[in-house]
Amino acid sequence: MKITSFDLHRLHLPLREPIGDSQVRFEAHWMTVVELHTDDGHSGCGFQLQQGTPTPSLSDQKSQFEYGIWPSISGHSPFGLAQRITRPRGGNVGGGYLTVAVETALWDLIAKQNDQPLYQVLGGESPAVPAYASTLDFRLDDDQFRAKLQRFHDRGFRAVKTKVGHPDISWDLKRLGIVKEVMGDDVRVMVDANEAWTAKETMIRIRTYEDAGHEIFWIEDPITRDDYEGYRRLCAELTRTRVNTGEYLGFSGKRRLLEHNAVDVINLHDSISTSRAAAWLAADYGIPVALGNTILELGVHLAASLPECLCLEFSDLIWNELAVEPIQFQDGMALAPDRPGHGIELDRDKLAFYSKV
Ligand SMILES: [Mg+2]
Repeated sequence: MKITSFDLHRLHLPLREPIGDSQVRFEAHWMTVVELHTDDGHSGCGFQLQQGTPTPSLSDQKSQFEYGIWPSISGHSPFGLAQRITRPRGGNVGGGYLTVAVETALWDLIAKQNDQPLYQVLGGESPAVPAYASTLDFRLDDDQFRAKLQRFHDRGFRAVKTKVGHPDISWDLKRLGIVKEVMGDDVRVMVDANEAWTAKETMIRIRTYEDAGHEIFWIEDPITRDDYEGYRRLCAELTRTRVNTGEYLGFSGKRRLLEHNAVDVINLHDSISTSRAAAWLAADYGIPVALGNTILELGVHLAASLPECLCLEFSDLIWNELAVEPIQFQDGMALAPDRPGHGIELDRDKLAFYSKV
């Protein structure tokens, strides 16, 4: 099987409601869809996302692809490309040498040629992965927040992650109260501060939440990403709450977190190959991982293949409209499709509707 041609699509997806955190606010996603076609009639697709600001025009993206990517994949076998290990040099420190979209399309092709779902090709045995609902709610008012939580509750989610980090701690406490009110007392609660705090402020906030009766399963990104000493202190001193970080760091940054005893749960947010390498390293340190949001929820395949994966994030975003059959979430579990490849077939009408030149 050799790659013979490609297609690119540039999409503009207006969000149903603004999403954001203590630092940012977005009203649209700009997506690039890469389709790779092979000489034996298979097609694989992958995705890349830019939040808020528009991507370059389709013709510019095609020129960049033809110049920067196409010569290294044209005529090659997807399996060889996806498995290739490159030395971390020249701007590819610790990461793969392909874009996330191309790598996803390659794995889709490999699994289709094997006539297997991707999670099985990656070594996964069960298609079901624990998932948590992630509200991305910082820019929503209390009523919108309540309505969003209710939708997740009705779909069977028993674990929720909300945004904190408001300058006024009573805002955080009010929102944690709403979580319990809608989801029930037995809900598992995670919070994400998106680097709003210092280490000291983090300890004050978490203890204040605890004193108000809120047990926090993990605090995500409380301080700036490369404050390894700060994260080490937090891991040592927050005895009832796990510290989840790594979302904003590449492979080398995640390695440094592990070396500094500065993480309790590593947040994976990268390509399949780089995430698997980071998960392997984390397992060697006895540290579990969790998966952040992935476009069209394709991370379910990766999560199903990682024995140390605690759970997968789900934010119910508009990108799932692009799928003929989106990834299913039932009773708090994500289910990898049992179709060959990653199992996401694009709805061509929706693709045309959201396409821009
Ligand atoms: Mg986060």
